[in-house]
Amino acid sequence: GIRPLIAGNWKMHGTLREAAALAEAVRAGAAASPPAADLLVCPPFPHIHVLAVALLGQGVAVGGQDCHAAAKGAHTGDVSAAMLRDIGASHVILGHSERRADHGEADADVRAKVAAALAAGLVPVVCVGETEAQRLGGEAEAVVRRQLAESLPDGFAGIIAYEPVWAIGTGRTPTEGDIAAIHGTIRDSLAARFGAAGQGMRILYGGSMKPGNAKAILALANVDGGLVGGASLVAADFLAIAASA
Ligand code: 13P
Repeated sequence: GIRPLIAGNWKMHGTLREAAALAEAVRAGAAASPPAADLLVCPPFPHIHVLAVALLGQGVAVGGQDCHAAAKGAHTGDVSAAMLRDIGASHVILGHSERRADHGEADADVRAKVAAALAAGLVPVVCVGETEAQRLGGEAEAVVRRQLAESLPDGFAGIIAYEPVWAIGTGRTPTEGDIAAIHGTIRDSLAARFGAAGQGMRILYGGSMKPGNAKAILALANVDGGLVGGASLVAADFLAIAASA
């Protein structure tokens, strides 16, 4: 099967010192007890380079949480995919619901960023997921299908993260049946568009993943890892989730 990936999205948390300590704790824990999963941490931009240097060759990849769609130019405050690659990032999270909500990113914007990431040699981690109103309206699968169709460029190669918006930071998760159903839908749509490559793409679950629920979620068909927010800020919790993969 597909080797799982456990990814930490640190969001906008922590000083450089705290980030370095967290990365070191993750590195040491994984070295002492290697999980049956690949590991990725995605710190805020200012911390990426120091962590990428510290973690180089240590079995923990480093990624960004966003990038600009353009290769370079007059875009004050933005960071290009090539810059992330240059400072040691291998992955980049794109289309997170917090970016979609806070910065008005639409599927077409996400698609352009994914293309930029691929052009720069980064592995994109593309987030999709329905709001609570969409879930209650019975539209979750249609929303996710549309987000995939419109957020992925032709020739996409990367990782999908299914993150129901209402499960992020709330302590709530979909039922195991609902997670399996939507991950199956995502797999079908990736396979229909990308063939064998789509069969092999990782589909992560994200949204209130914790040590207590990770094993059950990670055991579901077409769940190839997790994108962990809050619990990734505590090394022991992140490592416990990785150990359940
Ligand atoms: P939480 O794990 O804090 O719910 O966040 C999930 C998430 O948004 C990861 O990208």
